[in-house]
Amino acid sequence: MSAGAATHATVITVEDPAEVAVGAEFVLTVLVSCPAGCDLSGIPIEVMAPPDNATATVPAPCPPPHAGEGREGGAVARRVALKAPLRAGEHVWHLSCAAHKSSGWHHDASLLRVPVRVRPHETSLAVWAIPSPVVTSRPFAIKVGAKSAAGCDLTGMPIAVRDAAGTMLAGGVLGDTPWPGTSSLYWTELTLIAPAEAGMFSWSVELAAADLALPHQGSSSRFSIAIVDPPEHKLTIKVVAQGTASPVENAQVRLGAYRATTDGSGLAELMVPKGPYDLNVWKSGYDAPTAAIVIDADLAVEIAIALIPDENPDAVWQM
Ligand SMILES: [Zn+2]
Ligand SMILES: [Zn+2]
Repeated sequence: MSAGAATHATVITVEDPAEVAVGAEFVLTVLVSCPAGCDLSGIPIEVMAPPDNATATVPAPCPPPHAGEGREGGAVARRVALKAPLRAGEHVWHLSCAAHKSSGWHHDASLLRVPVRVRPHETSLAVWAIPSPVVTSRPFAIKVGAKSAAGCDLTGMPIAVRDAAGTMLAGGVLGDTPWPGTSSLYWTELTLIAPAEAGMFSWSVELAAADLALPHQGSSSRFSIAIVDPPEHKLTIKVVAQGTASPVENAQVRLGAYRATTDGSGLAELMVPKGPYDLNVWKSGYDAPTAAIVIDADLAVEIAIALIPDENPDAVWQM
C-alpha cells in the first residue's frame, strides 16, 4: 500500500494442512498483517466453520506478543484449533477480520477462504491362515482382517473375495472383536470352495467403502493360493547318508506344495496326485540333490545325501 493512502489493507494468510481425515482435529496457523507494517496482533479473527458455518471468534494470542517478537510486517502467528466435519469432500473455512483502526490507521475488512480436502479414513487388509495346498472342489477357510488408519471400530464392514475375473467367491462382514494381540484388526473367517482345476490362483480380497460413524475408504489386497488335485498315490521317501546308508532323521522333504520331515528311520510319506515333481531334500550340514520324479502310482524312492566335511571351510556357504 502506497504512502498517503486513506486506509491500510488487512492481509490474512494461513499455513494450513491442505488435507485432513474426517473428524480429525487440526490446527491452522493464521497470520494477520498490514503491508505497511502495523501491529495487527490484537485484531480478533472470525472463523466460519463447515459443515453448518458456525462462527467463532479467535481472540488475540495470549499472552500478547512483545514488541519485535512478531514475524515480518508485525504479523504474529495464531494457532487456531479446528475440527474436520464427519463428511468427506472439500470443505471451506472462512476467516475474516472486521474493518478496524490500529496504530492510528484505518484497516479494511478482510476475508480468506481456506479450502481443505477432508478424506475418509484409509483402510488396509490382511489375509492369513490360508491352507496350502488346497484340494480341488473342496471347501476351505481363510481369515481376513482390516484396519483403519485411525484405529476405528470396523465391525460390520463388508468383505468380499473375488477371482481374477472379478467374480465374487465369498462375502462376509467383519466381526466385533479385534484379532487377539491387536488393538484394531477387525476380522472374519470366510469359507471358499476350491476351483475344480488345479493350479496357482491369484485372488483379491476387498473391503467396500462404508460410512460407519466415520466414512472409510475401501481397499483391496491380492493373495495367491495353490490348488491341487486330490492325492491319489503314496510317495515314500527314505533319506540316507551317502556312503554309510544310515537313515537321516529330521530331513525336510519338499515335493511341490507338499512337505514332510523324515522320522527316526529316515522315512517320510506324502499323499500326492499324479504328475511330475521336483523332489527336494534339505538337512543342515548335508549336500542334497534335487531329483525329478513322476508320480503315476505309489512310489518309494531312496535319496542319498552327502555330509559336508567339517574341514571344508566353505561348508557354511553351501547350506
Ligand atoms: Zn496498517
Ligand atoms: Zn477410521
